[in-house]
Amino acid sequence: MLLTVATREIMNKPWAFDTLKVKAGYDSHDHGLSVSVPIYQTASYELESAERARRLNSFQESGHVYSRLSNPTTEVLEKRLAALDYGSAAIAVASGMAAVTYSLFNIAEDGGRILVTANLYGGTFNSFKKLYPKFGIHIDVIQDASHLDVINRQITPQTKAIFLESISNPDAELYDTEAIAAIAHEHGIPLVVDNTVATPYLFNPLEHGADVVVYSLTKGISGHGNSIGGAIVENGKFDWGNGNFPQFTDTDYNLRDIEGNARSILQVFPQTPFTARIRSVYVNFFGAELNPFGSYLTLLGLDTISERLSKQVNSTELLVGFLENHPDVEWVHYPKSRRSKYQNLAERYFPRGAGAVFSFGFKGTEEERDRFLNATEIFSYQANIGDVHSLIINIYETTHREYTPQEKKVAGLTPNTIRLSIGLEDVNDLIADLDQAFKQAKSCCSQQNELESAEICAD
Ligand SMILES: *Cc1c(COP(=O)(O)O)cnc(C)c1O
Repeated sequence: MLLTVATREIMNKPWAFDTLKVKAGYDSHDHGLSVSVPIYQTASYELESAERARRLNSFQESGHVYSRLSNPTTEVLEKRLAALDYGSAAIAVASGMAAVTYSLFNIAEDGGRILVTANLYGGTFNSFKKLYPKFGIHIDVIQDASHLDVINRQITPQTKAIFLESISNPDAELYDTEAIAAIAHEHGIPLVVDNTVATPYLFNPLEHGADVVVYSLTKGISGHGNSIGGAIVENGKFDWGNGNFPQFTDTDYNLRDIEGNARSILQVFPQTPFTARIRSVYVNFFGAELNPFGSYLTLLGLDTISERLSKQVNSTELLVGFLENHPDVEWVHYPKSRRSKYQNLAERYFPRGAGAVFSFGFKGTEEERDRFLNATEIFSYQANIGDVHSLIINIYETTHREYTPQEKKVAGLTPNTIRLSIGLEDVNDLIADLDQAFKQAKSCCSQQNELESAEICAD
C-alpha cells in the first residue's frame, strides 16, 4: 500500500520555486512519455501476484492499490506541493475543510484542546465551535496574538496544538510565526498553519517553524475557481514520539510487517508519520480523497502560480492605495500598507507581497452598502477567494455570518467589512469599477441625480 509520498529525491535537486512548480514530482518516463500529467481515471490497480500483494500490504514495496488511498495523478500533485513547501511529504484531500479537520483530528483525536487565533475562515471557525467539542476537542481562542505572553499563558496541559492562518481570511492579519512556533515547541506541541491565502509562492510556513501546513487548493493554488480540494504538508521533523501523541507510537496490527509483527506509524514512516497516518486512518476511513480530475486541474493551476500571484499582488497594492484615499472608505486592512500595524511582520515574512485578499470598511448606510455590492460590474459577488476573477463580498452577513457579535468583536469584523479578492483583470478597470460602484451607492442621496437615483433605489 502506498502510504507516503516522500520528496527526498526532489529536494536534492537545486531547483528554484518556478522550476519546481512545473516539474517537481513528475517524470514522463513513468507515464508513457506523456508531457502533460495524465489523468488516471481508475478505482483500482492490478496487484499482479499474491507475493506482490503481500509485499504491498506489509509496506515492503510501495505502489497503488485503490484510488481512495492513492492515485498516480494525485501523487504528482502531492510530491509537487511537498517540494514547493520544502516538506517531507504531502497528502491531497477533497477540500480545504477536510485538510483542516483531518490535520487537527490526527493530532487531538484522543480529546484535548487546540489554541487558535480569532480571525479565521468562517467554515473553520464554525466547525471548531459546533463539531469539535462533540468529539472531545475544545477550542481556545487567543485573545491577543500580538502579545506572546498571552499565548503562552493560554496553553494548558491539555493543549495539543496551536492553529493559525498565515494571512487570515478575511482580514489579512499576520502573526510572528517563528515566535509562536517556539512557544508551541517549548510545550511539546506542533504549530499548524493554514497557508491558503498566502500560497507557497508567498510564504513557506515550514521554513519558519511550523510543523504542518494545510491548504484549501480551491483558492490561490488552483487559482481558477473550478475545483474544490485541500492538502496537508508536513516537515518530518516534529517529535510525535514525545509522549503527547500516543496514536503515533501505539502499535497497530494493520501496520504489521511481513512476519506479522505489529508496528507503530512512527516505526513504519519515520520521515512522514503525519501524512502517512492521515492517509491510513482519515482518508482511508473517512474517505475524502481528492479525485484525479481535481488533482489534474490543480496541477494546471500550479503551473502559473507565480505569474498569477505576482500580478495579483501588484494590482492589490494599487487598489489598496486607491481605497486608502477614497472618501467613502473608513479603513483598509492590508499588511503591506504603510498604515498597517502588521507592516513590520509583512516586510519580514512576506517579501513577495502579502497576498491578494484584503478587506476595507465601507463608509455609509446599510442601504448604500447593498447598492455598492450590487453595482460592481467586474468584481463578482461571491464567497470564493484566490480566483483569476476579482471577487467581492460583505463577509459579516455571509461567509462569517455564524460568528456571534462578541466573536466578531474579538476577530475585528464589523458590519461594514467588505472583502476583496483581486484577480487578473486590468487594474485600471478594477479601480474604475469600484469607483463607479461607490458613485452609484451614494447617488440616491445627491440632488443632481434625483431621476437616475429614483430608478436605482427602486430595485
Ligand atoms: C476556503 C478556505 C478553507 C476551506 O477550503 P474549502 O476548499 O472551501 O473546503 C480553509 N481555510 C481557508 C483560509 C480558506 O480560505
